[in-house]
Amino acid sequence: MRRLVLATKNKGKIVEFERLINQFAQSVKVLGLADFPDMPEVHESGKTLSENARLKAKSISIFTKLPCLADDSGLFIDALAGDPGIYSARWAGYEGVDAQERDRLNIEKVLTQLKDVPVQKRSAQFKAVVAFYKPNSDGSAIEKEELGVMSGEIVLAPMGNGGFGYDPIFKPTGFDQTLAQLPPGVKDEVSHRGIAFRAMTPFLLSNL
Ligand code: IMP
Repeated sequence: MRRLVLATKNKGKIVEFERLINQFAQSVKVLGLADFPDMPEVHESGKTLSENARLKAKSISIFTKLPCLADDSGLFIDALAGDPGIYSARWAGYEGVDAQERDRLNIEKVLTQLKDVPVQKRSAQFKAVVAFYKPNSDGSAIEKEELGVMSGEIVLAPMGNGGFGYDPIFKPTGFDQTLAQLPPGVKDEVSHRGIAFRAMTPFLLSNL
């Protein structure tokens, strides 16, 4: 069976990725970073989603000796000149391990920053770059990346309990509910990660 490592410990992302990959590739065994407890933390030193996604895919593939698919994603808010962007995960500076607390503090910070911004100026985009890295036996490698973008707006107060991260405050264009209120399958269809991942799938399946 073909094997692939997914470069994330984020449970919300793993659940989404598994749902997505299973639509296309039942014959692929997907491993996660939990299967490689000795894998050192990859320092996300890049200045763009693309640099960070490529860095993670390459480092993890070299360590695990398996093809790797990594993503880097973030929320880009127009009224904040693109912040929190690549800093989305730790926007409020929380250093602990409680993901729900981290998400709550991040949301609180964004809503505070936007408190004087009117509804019509609260546009934002979620962006995801998915990067694939597979070492060849001659020392070269196969590399590919895809970008997915979902446009929407930041609502005035959190709504819904589903999803993760900033889902409760992001309402995608064309919907009147936040991502945290939408059924999971609906989020996959419109999400930045869903778009990037579906764009990558044909390449992935013919290069694994
Ligand atoms: P990454 O793990 O470095 O890609 O960090 C991405 C961060 O952006 C996450 O921790 C979330 O805070 C946020 N984020 C990315 N994608 C989503 C999403 O689909 N919903 C909500 N928040 C997201």
